[in-house]
Amino acid sequence: MEKKPFVTKEQVEEIVKTWPTPFHIYDEKGIVENARRVKAAFAWNPGFHEYFAVKATPNPWILEILKNEGFGADCSSYTELLMADAVGLHGHDIMYSSNVTPDADFIKAAQLGAIINFDDISMIDPYMQIAPVQDTMCCRYNPGGNFTLHNEIMDTPKDAKYGMTKDQLREAYRKLRDYGVKNFGIHAFLASNTVALGYYPKLARILFEVVAEFSRELGIHFSFVNLSGGVGIPYRPDQEPNDIMAIGEEVRKAYEEILVPAGLDDVAIYTEMGRFILGPYGHLVTKVLRMKHIWKDYAGVDACAANLMRPAMYRAYHHITVLGKENAPCDHLYDVTGGLCENNDKFAIDRMLPEIHEGDYLVIHDTGAHGFSMGYNYNGRLRSAELLLRPDGSVKQIRRAETPQDYFATLDYPGLKDER
Ligand SMILES: *Cc1c(COP(=O)(O)O)cnc(C)c1O
Repeated sequence: MEKKPFVTKEQVEEIVKTWPTPFHIYDEKGIVENARRVKAAFAWNPGFHEYFAVKATPNPWILEILKNEGFGADCSSYTELLMADAVGLHGHDIMYSSNVTPDADFIKAAQLGAIINFDDISMIDPYMQIAPVQDTMCCRYNPGGNFTLHNEIMDTPKDAKYGMTKDQLREAYRKLRDYGVKNFGIHAFLASNTVALGYYPKLARILFEVVAEFSRELGIHFSFVNLSGGVGIPYRPDQEPNDIMAIGEEVRKAYEEILVPAGLDDVAIYTEMGRFILGPYGHLVTKVLRMKHIWKDYAGVDACAANLMRPAMYRAYHHITVLGKENAPCDHLYDVTGGLCENNDKFAIDRMLPEIHEGDYLVIHDTGAHGFSMGYNYNGRLRSAELLLRPDGSVKQIRRAETPQDYFATLDYPGLKDER
């Protein structure tokens, strides 16, 4: 599918008068329309709830948009909990899916009434020492082995640090039951960024089977199955996007086949999607600063891996549009690079693009999730602003760019300040 930016060159030229590049910009209209598709896909399940994975795009203005669509928050750290609290999410609107959890985080999550999702059986007793038992609690499952779809290995749960083995899971539910928990949830995250119809349905079958078995065996009541994240997006133009309606329908079939005959027709489906909810609705907009021609041709831009780590970290593909040259032939071969003193700081390697000149604006696509949020400060590079493109075409700054003063804020050293 052709990838079209949601901003034009003219819009960007207007925006940079107020907020210079680089910046991340999010498309509120796209976010809301997609959120409504997700709700429609699972409307067959009256208890359905999406908990947006805050780590994907940790900005309260974004959380607020999603809250207005009825979504909750999936948090995994103290600061993410504070953010959810600030936008008015509490109680069962927060899922606390953490691992290696510090005591302070458990205490905060319990104070907010969040649903606690235990990553490991070893956390249950320590939790009960410091925080009250909750009516509803959840455990994370790791079935081990490889996760395959159509004989293709999608991911390797056996190598993943998350969740409990099935025997531990059984023991964990027994323990929680004895502590007085009334309603139980089950959670698993077995493959990341799946662009395949089958992921949620297969995961759902695995979890539904366990729910049916443990309901019988332990006499406990499961109130929800949390399918977590992992629904992917087409980063490459030749990939087909996930059809969320079809995914919802396949999960419904599994529900009808496994849970309903077991008399478990009141189980709610929860999800914790991050990438699918926000990924396509964010761009990193950057300006070409320097062109360089040595053994290869380089387009050097004012953003760097500190603003978007995925290409450097995972060699991830992010599509690039040269604004104003959308219809020009892609007849030049470039590496598009940032300015870190790190040779992996490349947004694209050997990419065919229209001829690029200094001053051109590039849109790096699909940066709405796990983009800004993975930013860091290597080489003293500063995190960019985050902007929101409103449905009426106006632009709102939802996070200002860092300044050198922010970078120095944790240092108390004479004379260290930004003189600009
Ligand atoms: C990262 C994460 C998610 C979101 O994953 P996506 O791939 O962005 O959908 C959901 N739940 C948990 C526990 C996670 O760690």
